[in-house]
Amino acid sequence: MHLFLSPHLDDAVLSCGGTIHQLTASGEPVTVLTTMAGDPPDPLPDTPIVADLHQRWQAGYSPVAVRRREDEQACAMLGAQIVHFSLGDCVYRLSDAGDPRVALYPDEDSLWGDIHPLDPAPGVLRQSGVPNNPLPSALYVPVGSRHHVDHRIVRDWGLWLHAQNPRGILFLYEEYPYESDATMELERALAFFRPRQLSLEPRPLSEADVDAKLEAIACYESQISTFWPSLTDMAAKTRESMLAAGNGHSVERFWRIT
Ligand SMILES: [Zn+2]
Repeated sequence: MHLFLSPHLDDAVLSCGGTIHQLTASGEPVTVLTTMAGDPPDPLPDTPIVADLHQRWQAGYSPVAVRRREDEQACAMLGAQIVHFSLGDCVYRLSDAGDPRVALYPDEDSLWGDIHPLDPAPGVLRQSGVPNNPLPSALYVPVGSRHHVDHRIVRDWGLWLHAQNPRGILFLYEEYPYESDATMELERALAFFRPRQLSLEPRPLSEADVDAKLEAIACYESQISTFWPSLTDMAAKTRESMLAAGNGHSVERFWRIT
């Protein structure tokens, strides 16, 4: 079984949708596990970032329920099973201790800063079981090129999981879309692994893989406007980035620790 760890309800498909399609089309079982797929707390944290995101997503009190349905559709289209954990996105997470409990990531800057020492997510993940029937033969973990705090938490958890079951193959995947400069983001992400050596393993995709990925991404309707002005633009930019990554042949990029 191929197990893809997705911090949010879209990351694995945005980053690896072509690979997921290629695997399932050849009869390989694939599961996409989204860690931060839980509902927001009630009441919502009264923070600028929650106000801003809820305004942008236009999906009511619990945009997450909508996002889970989008993910179900996208993964069904790619032939993958899904698992949704109940941890909330970092913008919803509160300190474990203290009265009142405080919002750990209240504004845009905090999403890209340090993992908060009171963040319960790393501990909760280590206590969570992953689908193991059958045991994953390959584990796909974000490389951390999207520097978001949830992505780094899931990267660290993935490395820990692999250390528990080193017989499976560990793939680190490049996250898409980029925040700004893909090359710079990747350099920063790869620097985290030093002094370990990483070897790049680009996975060539067929036209059918690319088409399936674009159709699956289109299922995440509430997220499109965050990254692109339209679906047409999403398809064009996403195609372009896969071609650029493979010097003219569409690929998704993975690394193995050597
Ligand atoms: Zn994400």
